Order: sequence, then structure tokens, then C-alpha cells
Amino acid sequence: MPKMRAVQVPSARAPFEIVERDIPEPGPGTVRIKVQACGICHSDTVTKDGLFPGIEYPRVPGHEVVGVIDAVASGVPRWTAGKRVAVGWHGGNCGYCDACRRGNFFACQSFTAITGVTSDGGYAEYMIARAEALALVPDELSPVEAAPLVCAGVTTYNCLRNAGARPGDLVAVVGLGGLGHLGVQYAAKAGYRTVAIGRGKDKEAFARELGAKFYIDNQTQDPAAELQKLGGAKVILATLTDGDAMAAVVGGLGAYGSLMVIGATPSLTVSPIQLIFGNRSVTGWYSGTSIDSEDTMAFSVLSGVRSMNEVFPMERAAEGYEHMMSGRARFRAVLTMGS
Ligand SMILES: [Zn+2]
Ligand SMILES: [Zn+2]
Repeated sequence: MPKMRAVQVPSARAPFEIVERDIPEPGPGTVRIKVQACGICHSDTVTKDGLFPGIEYPRVPGHEVVGVIDAVASGVPRWTAGKRVAVGWHGGNCGYCDACRRGNFFACQSFTAITGVTSDGGYAEYMIARAEALALVPDELSPVEAAPLVCAGVTTYNCLRNAGARPGDLVAVVGLGGLGHLGVQYAAKAGYRTVAIGRGKDKEAFARELGAKFYIDNQTQDPAAELQKLGGAKVILATLTDGDAMAAVVGGLGAYGSLMVIGATPSLTVSPIQLIFGNRSVTGWYSGTSIDSEDTMAFSVLSGVRSMNEVFPMERAAEGYEHMMSGRARFRAVLTMGS
């Protein structure tokens, strides 16, 4: 039996271990991918710390996977060996439940498939993926470039493009980390009057390099008041995991403005008065499915948007994970599979 190396979580909250496993065989409706790169995402804590009910261990994390199809099982139309593909958080859907029949594949009622959570993910030399979860990677993107785009990228891009802003509208991005540095780029390239909101004056030059037209330092300025001076935001993309910093910007929304929440903060307190006067809303946004990932990568090629990445070989996954969790990563961490 041919073997591969994988990085697995043996049980909830246990340290990563590098193990030798049998190379998995794809079952009906799936393909096997020879992994080239896999991003390390903050949401890998779901696997590392056992935050998803019923998660089975040992489990290989990783849901920002890029590689080449090397085996195709039965019941897989369209995909062939040799195609370069990416797999994100959305690990698949049934296609026949009511939610799927309405096109809401992310809300599939038959099963929840999350790459690297309900099945083994991309911290390995090979992984199995369901066919509907595959996104074609454009030739212009290297594996390391593409990997963060199918989680951090699609989450910010797909949220912004569905948030109701039109070119020229005021759009603010709160936070300049792994999600925010992509959000500012996508907002600017989409033609919005883009405001970056970060902590400290020292981030301003960087925010402007990313394409921000305006910068608000939320340590010394009131972000809501500053946004109102600019006319009020149509959309504010909240990438932080700090509920207080999110609440502080709600007053910066214009009429019919939306706070789009993609940072998984435990709680967020908003005054109903703020929502009622101005018909404002607070909306959560799920990442996206495989076609959204393809659109994200295509737009990134078209516009030149790229994630800034620190690269670690797979053997140093634990170090890369700690680096990402510490908040020191500039701005995403990506694993590469050597052999
Ligand atoms: Zn992720
Ligand atoms: Zn379904």
C-alpha cells in the first residue's frame, strides 16, 4: 500500500503529529488530489480544539487546499486527472434537498461537509474531495497564491459583491489582518470609495498601498463619526473578532447601510435605535461555494489582488499554526508539500 505523510490532530486540543498513512482511495462522486499547498486558517481551530459537534479523530485539518487531481472515481462528470483544483471550507452538498434546489448549497439540509473538519483536509500530501467542492485554479496563480483565496479570499470577495454596494459607494473594511488586507484590496478594485479602519496611525501607509482612499485609526478617532463625515457607509465589512470594535462602527452606516459580519466574534451588542433610524442592518456572511471560489480567483487574476503569505513546509505545520494564532503572521500562513 503506497504511503503518504499527513499532519493530523489525534484528539481535541492535542498537539499536531506528523504521521505516515495509506494514500486514500476516492469513493463514488469524489476525486483524489495531490496537494501542493494548503493555507492555515484561524478556523482550523475548529478541528484543533474540537469545536464542531461530533468531529471524529484523528483528523487532518486544512480547508485552503490547492493541488492536482490524480485519481477520479465513478460518478464524477467533467473533472479529469491533471486538472489543478482548489477546495475551500464548503466540502460539498447533496444537490436535491430543498435548500440545494433553491440554490442555497451552503445551507444543504442533507449533510454538512466541511473540508478538514467532517473529512480529512489539506495538511497532507493527498486528500479526497467531493466533485461539487472543486474549483478550477487559473494558470496565473501559483499554489501558494491560490490557497488563501479559497477561504480568506472568497469570504471577503463574495461578501462584498453580495452586500449591495455599487461602484463609487462608501465601503469600509474594519481590520487589516488576514481577511482585512484582502477585503481592502477587493473593495478598492471593485470601484468603491474604500475606507480602511485599523488600530494605530502606523497602519495607514500600508492601508493606502492596498488601495484604501481613506484611513481611520480607531484608537484615536471615533470611526462612526469619521464615516458619517464621509457621507455614511453603504457597507462595512467587519473582519475582526472583537465585538466592541464592531459595535463602534455601526453608527457610521448611512441609510440602508449594512454591517457585514465575517469575523466570528462571540457576541456583538448593537442598539436597535441605530438600526431603526436609517433602516440599517447587521448581516452575517457565509464564505462561498466552489463556483464562488472560482470567481474569486478569476477576479484576483483580473485585478491583481493577492494575499500576502508566509510559507512553511508541511513538516513545520505546528509552528505555522502557532504563528497564525499569535496574530504575528503577515498576513496568511501557507503550507507547502515538498515531494
Ligand atoms: Zn478558513
Ligand atoms: Zn442539499
